[in-house]
Amino acid sequence: MSIGYAQKLSDKKDVGTLGMPELFDPPYNLQQKVEQLAVIIQKSKYLVVFTGAGTSTSCGVPDFRGPKGIWTLQRQGKGVPEASLPFDRAMPSLTHMALVELEKAGILKFVISQNVDGLHLKSGIPREKLAELHGNSFREVCPSCGMEYLRDFEVETIGLKNTPRRCVEEKCKARLRDTVLDCEDELPGKEMNLAEQQCEMADMILCLGTSLQITPACDIPLRALRNGGKVVIVNLQQTPKDKDASLVIHGLVDEVISGVMSYLYLRIPPFVRVDVFQIVFTRCTRLSDKRFMKWRLRVASIHGQNAPLPFVRSVEVSFPGRPELKVATLSKQPFLLKRHLSLQSFDQIVIRAELLKRLRGAYA
Ligand SMILES: [Zn+2]
Repeated sequence: MSIGYAQKLSDKKDVGTLGMPELFDPPYNLQQKVEQLAVIIQKSKYLVVFTGAGTSTSCGVPDFRGPKGIWTLQRQGKGVPEASLPFDRAMPSLTHMALVELEKAGILKFVISQNVDGLHLKSGIPREKLAELHGNSFREVCPSCGMEYLRDFEVETIGLKNTPRRCVEEKCKARLRDTVLDCEDELPGKEMNLAEQQCEMADMILCLGTSLQITPACDIPLRALRNGGKVVIVNLQQTPKDKDASLVIHGLVDEVISGVMSYLYLRIPPFVRVDVFQIVFTRCTRLSDKRFMKWRLRVASIHGQNAPLPFVRSVEVSFPGRPELKVATLSKQPFLLKRHLSLQSFDQIVIRAELLKRLRGAYA
């Protein structure tokens, strides 16, 4: 879905900086700039961070405009990069986790992201301190009551369409919609207003890994300038907003942010992956024949019947005290085992689930 989204956008948006060379500040210069950035952050009273694709490239999520970005390769007729993998395999980067720590330390007040990979929420940035301008592949919303649902799988649709699930609120039950914008969709008003307000309150906006090309999102950070705030840009390519920035750093976002954190004596917390599923066991005893019974065992998503379970590769069900019963290996979804045989109350059932490995991120 990530690729489909990029393909649609690529036909529409300004592609002015496509394939522009990546720039790297020389090491000594970079070190000086990192220290300068750390001092600005230390002195700031209201820091807001604005992120783009470059924040997630180290997580295996492809960027758009770099020499090997999706849009660049497509314009050159080379198709999408092979390394592109589904978002649910990606893990938060050093930068995502550093932002979590800066928020906990009270320094970072708000994050605005143009990414739809959901990694800021996965890393632990509180929802109320995040505006996702282009949506989130893992978030569904109820158009009727406004309830949001964060999933552990990519929502099947993009373009604010109906998904296979409904709102669980008893009096609502409306069809849910995805939140990822298609190229024709307007930016979500609520997130946009919040982002603009936050930028006006900020005395510093740190733009990370964004070419600041996609309008109208790219104009939001400049709102900080109206009230005397500063803008700092960390990106591997030039951006049209460089002239408005107090400091422009050409370096890898993870490298720059790690340097800033060590200058501030702040640790970057590890990302702890948590995967949850449920085991549903149902049985119906036949009254006419008590020796046998029908039962079903299902390893399922906690998000309901119509939800995929992308992180489980296979499930093995065995019965240690009953050697005559064969081990069952379930390798396809839904992971459902139906049997018609007797089970004593003391029988033990062992369920082993093999999980899919996620991409090697900074903490894998
Ligand atoms: Zn609802």
